[in-house]
Amino acid sequence: MFAEARSCQRCPELAATRKKVVFGAGNANADLMFIGEAPGASEDEQGVPFVGRAGKLLETLLNEIDIERKDVFVANTLKCRPPGNRDPLPIELDNCQEYLLRQVELIQPTVICTLGNFSTKLLRGDPTGITKLHGQPEILVLGTRAVRLYPIYHPAAALYTPRMLQTLREDFARLPELLAFGAPEQPPPTPELPELEPAPEPHASAQAAAAESSAGTSAETADQLGLF
Ligand code: URA
Repeated sequence: MFAEARSCQRCPELAATRKKVVFGAGNANADLMFIGEAPGASEDEQGVPFVGRAGKLLETLLNEIDIERKDVFVANTLKCRPPGNRDPLPIELDNCQEYLLRQVELIQPTVICTLGNFSTKLLRGDPTGITKLHGQPEILVLGTRAVRLYPIYHPAAALYTPRMLQTLREDFARLPELLAFGAPEQPPPTPELPELEPAPEPHASAQAAAAESSAGTSAETADQLGLF
């Protein structure tokens, strides 16, 4: 799926302007997943999400509740940087959503923290904003998985607003309790559920093509995914 995503051309403008696809990084078996908005300039350079100041804050807040960043998985609603850090367009969110849902199905987190408005609205399929929803967990079915959705403020917003940072810290403090509940009851498998397109088997030729594409060597790829 990473090989497929990193040569994605679904959004012509993003494909033409990005340096790297920011697939997501961390523990592929994580119980806790964070979903931000879209990569910024540093993320686009490195191909890794949340490597700038917001990422540092995310890591600090995690450490304060005795969780290490390498134990969670971090992704975004968009895998490519919108030029000039503009807001993601609805068509781009739509194009990229399938990757996110597939990631959720593969990782099977029990708790998903949406960071800020974009990911919260996207996953809930509802325009209610983060100011109203932050800190309130709910059970949500994404694709075929039921997860505990926990919307919280985006760390980039909290960087500049001390009151928001305080609220974010308080919301983070409830995460261990939420994780301790474990996975919510899963929906029974029904043929009615929309089928996600299966990831194609990696053919030798596709692997070779992927190896030649922008993400470079397999060591770099491992770094970009943060999977160890
Ligand atoms: N902000 C985001 O939403 N995502 C990143 O990866 C970095 C900053």
